[in-house]
Amino acid sequence: MPVERTYIMVKPDGVERRLVGEIIRRFETRGLKLVGLKLLQPSTELAEAHYAVHRERPFFGELVQFITSGPVVAMVWEGTDAIKLCRNMIGALKPLEAIPGTIRGDFTTEVQTNLVHGSDAPETAANEIGLWFSPGELI
Ligand code: UDP
Ligand code: MG
Repeated sequence: MPVERTYIMVKPDGVERRLVGEIIRRFETRGLKLVGLKLLQPSTELAEAHYAVHRERPFFGELVQFITSGPVVAMVWEGTDAIKLCRNMIGALKPLEAIPGTIRGDFTTEVQTNLVHGSDAPETAANEIGLWFSPGELI
């Protein structure tokens, strides 16, 4: 089982709702290792690059507006199977499929304002970590 790094981000709604500590606590107490952390307000260019895979989707413009609407907490977490593990802890995109016990399942009812992002595969994790962090910012 591979030790992986994954890009996790508390979205502007999570910061606004004072859920940063709650979200970090979940990854920490699960046993993952925090290797990068910063608060920033993303530029439109950064948000568009991060969500480039969704560029043609009807919700793209609104999504970029949402992600740039306030500060986000950008993080890198490391651990065994960290990418899938964190996705499981975040929960499903569709609110009715986000099970209680997951972050989305416990704190959200909406598809857009869903508190947290997590990389979905090794390639996207590497890409997203490189987009949001310089190598010197990772411990
Ligand atoms: N999103 C949205 N409307 C949709 C689908 C997605 O606003 O119909 C937003 C939502 O914030 C989601 C993000 O776009 O987290 C990226 O969508 P994706 O399908 O990659 O979901 P995720 O990987 O975040 O579970
Ligand atoms: Mg995704």
